[in-house]
Amino acid sequence: MSNQKQKIIIANWKMNPATFIEAENLLKTVKGGIKKSDDVKIVICPPAIYLAKIKTNSGFELGIQNIFWEDKGAYTGEVSALMARKLGVKYAIIGHSERRIYLNETDEMINKKIKAALKNNLKPILCIGETLEEKQKDRTSKIIANQLKLALKNISKFQILNSRFYFAYEPIWAIGSGETPSSNEVMSAALLIRKIIANLYDRQTADNLSVLYGGSVTSKNALDFLDNSGMNGLLIGGASLNGSEFNKIVKLLNC
Ligand code: PEP
Repeated sequence: MSNQKQKIIIANWKMNPATFIEAENLLKTVKGGIKKSDDVKIVICPPAIYLAKIKTNSGFELGIQNIFWEDKGAYTGEVSALMARKLGVKYAIIGHSERRIYLNETDEMINKKIKAALKNNLKPILCIGETLEEKQKDRTSKIIANQLKLALKNISKFQILNSRFYFAYEPIWAIGSGETPSSNEVMSAALLIRKIIANLYDRQTADNLSVLYGGSVTSKNALDFLDNSGMNGLLIGGASLNGSEFNKIVKLLNC
């Protein structure tokens, strides 16, 4: 059984900050404000080029924002799961909507990336979610079911149970927009994800999942998502770039 009590906060810095000096300053602020705690696990996902220079001996773990599915080879510009793991990275964000939109990442590619993460002992953080248009047309359930089915093709129940797999519900319309779903809507999405996983695998796999929420989380709404939606944690973009705001969120979760 996973530790359902411990919440996880994943900071997705995206392509920020512009210089490593700024990144170091942000890390300093975060480190300064963090108390090691069993209540909250913090994972920082900086741009890949900064990963090698960041030391993780002070209260947080590292994630990578994207990986390639081969370990090495003629794939110009790519970074492999193996390379990330060898640097001490433990998590990999896979299938973020910005990559699906701007880089035409398909469900088939996402499936290969998940397999590469699992093979190299990286914990996948699989991002799924609907566009505003899909929400308005009442297609959220269909979209999420389809994304999950394709992303998890030929991945066994044991791979999911043994790897500590994270499913991040990130409605695309909520990312960076200041708009958020209600805590009831987020709770329904989490239940839906568990139901789809129970159908694809079984109840045991569904009950052991960690489901996260991401999309315009701030210190004002973070607790609402965790207390009232039954989520296991948060994926935070914009607010993770402001050290004091990020620390405020972490403090809220340290009971
Ligand atoms: C994200 O990029 O995963 C995200 C949730 O961004 P933001 O918090 O800025 O909406």
